[in-house]
Amino acid sequence: MIDVNDLAKSYGPIQALKGVSFRVKEGEIVGLLGPNGAGKTTIIKILTGYLHPDEGTVLINGLNVLEHTREAQAQIGYLPETAPLYPELSVQAYLRMMADLRRVPDDVQGERLSEAIYATGLEHHLTRPISQLSKGFRQRVGLAQAILHRPKFLILDEPTVGLDPTQIVEIRNLIRRLAVDSTVLFSTHILSEVEALCDRAIILMNGEIRADAHLSDLAATSDAVMILDHAFPDVPAVLRGLEGIRGVEPFRSVDGFPGFRVSGEQRLGSDLCPMIYNVARQQDWALRELRPDVRTLETVFNELAMAAEVAA
Ligand code: ATP
Repeated sequence: MIDVNDLAKSYGPIQALKGVSFRVKEGEIVGLLGPNGAGKTTIIKILTGYLHPDEGTVLINGLNVLEHTREAQAQIGYLPETAPLYPELSVQAYLRMMADLRRVPDDVQGERLSEAIYATGLEHHLTRPISQLSKGFRQRVGLAQAILHRPKFLILDEPTVGLDPTQIVEIRNLIRRLAVDSTVLFSTHILSEVEALCDRAIILMNGEIRADAHLSDLAATSDAVMILDHAFPDVPAVLRGLEGIRGVEPFRSVDGFPGFRVSGEQRLGSDLCPMIYNVARQQDWALRELRPDVRTLETVFNELAMAAEVAA
């Protein structure tokens, strides 16, 4: 488990992190999502033992990263935002050098190198100098070096930044495969990346966590959408008269039918549909559709960003 408690970090007058706490349980893939400058890289550098926080602690499998940096790092595979590759070396020579630096014992080095090369699909590029590889393949080399020592935790800083759409899909598939054996925390500013890869998102803005939840919970609301077959009088007024209803917003469905978005007083935890269904029956409204409303991660992110701007 990764256990992050109350991290604070300033660079001179800039407060990059203001009391950040979260946990990543074994086997999870968690996306650390935030706009540029939110503090993602700062968190990742602290988690991997490359930067000291001003306050707070990080435990990797119970080991305090600040006190037992080497032991904690031995359990982590880290892909920095720009992987420290040596362009003049061949893929094979670079990975061998990294295995030595990671102190992978000689008697298992061959096996570990083959595992990492196979997992990242580099087997046909071993003799090529890194400088001649595409950015996608260089990122694979970065991932291969991160998994050489069979780490329990993979921590990846913006793993798909600067890649073209095909390379992005390849690297995402690769991360998904690596996540079978490791717990993964990765940072990104791309919403669809989180939706494509993980079940839990930690949303960071201005150095603070604004949301930490499973995507299905973030998307959930207690709102309902009702679409009628044709117009009926007084629909908004009747709905507004019900207990627990906060608002009713009329709209036209894509195929032109009268629709109503009904929001509840409680944001979560109640399903308005049964109550609306009963009223529709009593009023003889011809229902075409009645369903709970679901927000996209993009809506959640924009709402949080707007709230952060108002608070700033
Ligand atoms: P990006 O997606 O752009 O990499 P980020 O979410 O990773 O952003 P950080 O790189 O952690 O954010 O930066 C958080 C804040 O700290 C930003 O305001 C940044 O300008 C500032 N910062 C980061 N590193 C330094 C540094 N070495 N010196 C001064 N300020 C820094």
